[in-house]
Amino acid sequence: MTSTVRQVRETVAALHAELTRYQLVVWTAGNVSARVPGEDLMVIKPSGVSYEDLTPDSMVVCDLNGALVEGDLKPSSDTAAHAYVYRAMPEVGGVVHTHSPYATAWAARGEPIPCVLTAQADEFGGEIPIGPFALIGNDDIGRGIVETLSGHRSTAVLMRNHGVFTIGEDARAAVKSAVMCESVAYTVHLARQLGEPLPIPPECVDALFDRYHSVYGQLT
Ligand SMILES: [Zn+2]
Repeated sequence: MTSTVRQVRETVAALHAELTRYQLVVWTAGNVSARVPGEDLMVIKPSGVSYEDLTPDSMVVCDLNGALVEGDLKPSSDTAAHAYVYRAMPEVGGVVHTHSPYATAWAARGEPIPCVLTAQADEFGGEIPIGPFALIGNDDIGRGIVETLSGHRSTAVLMRNHGVFTIGEDARAAVKSAVMCESVAYTVHLARQLGEPLPIPPECVDALFDRYHSVYGQLT
């Protein structure tokens, strides 16, 4: 095992704790993966293992066709979808999947989350889109993710009747997107209960998104 693979195993194992911390997953559902920098490999959660039992050593290394390269356990059943995204989107370094409840409720209705919060404009640059209905077992989920997110500012897609897939420049960014997606889904759901949330004018969405992605944070 190279030191790079070791490092990615540690990162991916640790990031799974964020999914439970933010209550985005139940039982063994959900998964995080990361591309191994400089290699055509990814590290992903093993299938059917409890979150508290996940360790760097239990993570699974696959190639970008989803075939097992290194690991004692079977890779996540969503491996093909993650692999498809890495093959089609070279800029993506991390992928996350959850069935987080509020976001998945929007997916169940097939309804995109309208951009009615400044935090949503910051993070997603507009509405959070709906992807197609797709059965697990072939490339349909991966293709649906890529087709929906290509050329879209959003790093999150609500796959219809299923749940959330997020992408990021690395796995931590994809986890952040999954956390923010659920937060936005929850707040907009609450806002809907007593009225119609007010849209943010498109030019203001653009200004918020540009500012957040250029000057926000510690890098000024
Ligand atoms: Zn799923």
